[in-house]
Amino acid sequence: MQLITVGTVAFDRIETPFGKADKVVGGAATYISLAASFFTDQLGLVSVVGEDFPQEMLQTMRGRRIDLDGLEVMEGRESFFWAGRYHYDMNTRDTLETRLNVLLDLDPKLPEAYTGAPYLMLGNLDPRVQAKVLAQMSERPALVVMDTMNFWMDSALEKLTEVIAQVDILAINDAEARQLSGEHSLVRAADKILGMGPKYLVVKKGEHGALLFGQGRVFFAPALPLEDIVDPTGAGDTFAGGFIGFLARTQDHSFENLKRAIIVGSALASFCCERFGVERLLEIDREDIDQRIQQFVDLVDFDIQVVDGE
Ligand code: AMP
Repeated sequence: MQLITVGTVAFDRIETPFGKADKVVGGAATYISLAASFFTDQLGLVSVVGEDFPQEMLQTMRGRRIDLDGLEVMEGRESFFWAGRYHYDMNTRDTLETRLNVLLDLDPKLPEAYTGAPYLMLGNLDPRVQAKVLAQMSERPALVVMDTMNFWMDSALEKLTEVIAQVDILAINDAEARQLSGEHSLVRAADKILGMGPKYLVVKKGEHGALLFGQGRVFFAPALPLEDIVDPTGAGDTFAGGFIGFLARTQDHSFENLKRAIIVGSALASFCCERFGVERLLEIDREDIDQRIQQFVDLVDFDIQVVDGE
């Protein structure tokens, strides 16, 4: 295996000012692995679902060469469930409900074939589970990327900071970076968070793009202005899946290549927002992705000669 992902595989109830979906398949690891599957076919998923999780979706994932040997199915139990409501700007949301269900009992056992993978994506879920996955890798992966959210900062901060100290890249949104650091300025927040261990910090800002901090440098990638944002749920995870999938494919961890990975992640995230749940990710192909990456290039392409003032 080349890339292992851990995270939730879930049902979501989503309300936006423009529509709602009562029960769609979601979860951090679902979005991550679907996005990453465009770049690698050596992809293993570690998570848990209940008996209620649709077999068709598991088949769809297998069809994309996502290995599910690390996905436990708990009989007679219900899958992780999350409900959220977006504000008018679609950039901020309230969590209405989080039912951990099967996640309460997840004690991950990595299949042998997963333990030597060079790329590890610690997607959003209980940091105790993220730590257990990391500890089961037979050697330190070449690159560990991590995501998390306010829920875990509120409920398991100590364990969370322990895991953060062990990863190469932390990718979180602006509100989470502010909460984790206690700093409003994202530059100061990045300084503090990089002081906690990671070499790089990616700050996702929804429709305002993403920032990459690290090695004393900063890079900014825009988000594509979309005509209609139907549902931003999973955009952050889709970003992360595209980001690490591209890095696993190119095996180059230089700052220049991280910049490319951020554009790739942003391109995939833009698709995710065009429909509820994972629907749009299941429709697109590599050609769609390449065209969208070109749109990003065009969006920020300008020529300017800086003229010295007299
Ligand atoms: P994103 O919009 O990228 O932040 O991710 C949304 C996804 O995260 C949804 O599909 C949810 O199922 C999942 N999710 C929500 N709350 C949590 C949580 N506390 N831990 C892990 N995953 C969660």
